[in-house]
Amino acid sequence: MEEEVGGEEYLFKVVLIGDSAVGKSNLLSRFARNEFDPNNKATIGVEFLTQELEIDGKMVKAQIWDTAGQERFRAVTSAYYRGAVGALIVYDISRKTTFESVERWLDELTTHCETTVARMLVGNKCDLEDIRDVSVEDGKSLAEEEGLFFMETSALNATNVQTAFEMVIREIYNNVS
Ligand code: GDP
Ligand code: MG
Repeated sequence: MEEEVGGEEYLFKVVLIGDSAVGKSNLLSRFARNEFDPNNKATIGVEFLTQELEIDGKMVKAQIWDTAGQERFRAVTSAYYRGAVGALIVYDISRKTTFESVERWLDELTTHCETTVARMLVGNKCDLEDIRDVSVEDGKSLAEEEGLFFMETSALNATNVQTAFEMVIREIYNNVS
């Protein structure tokens, strides 16, 4: 979805993907509401949240979609991806299996999205250094191989959350303007 509204406004659809419990919902609630839910209940409760950003003096709206937990059943539907121009592919740095799933999520994204999608690989929960299971180097090299932006984040302490979303949104803006 890249709609130009009134000549000065843009609306971009961005999707959050990645295995269950990597922190997708908390990344979104941290970004959009500056909130974190320590319990396993961070259901945004809506399909997406909209955030406004100013880029080059233009008002840019990012409609950020969160799954309702259906990724547990590997049943994220094509409607979820439809019209997406940006994606954050999230894994949990304390659980290697979630990193190993990244390729599958990238394949799914490619299958469902035809246009150029600005993609950021996000290693979340970087506050869990003590139980790190995926090195920063491994994250970086996968991102390089696949041509993705890369950032480690923590929805818990807010590290890089704003930056990660903003980088994706800026890249989309660069792609369309
Ligand atoms: P989702 O299934 O990918 O949407 O993941 P959630 O946002 O529901 O988070 C799953 C669990 O991980 C919850 O218990 C969160 O509190 C926790 N969590 C999410 N982000 C972080 C983080 O950055 N650091 C830590 N330590 N825990 C996190
Ligand atoms: Mg969730």
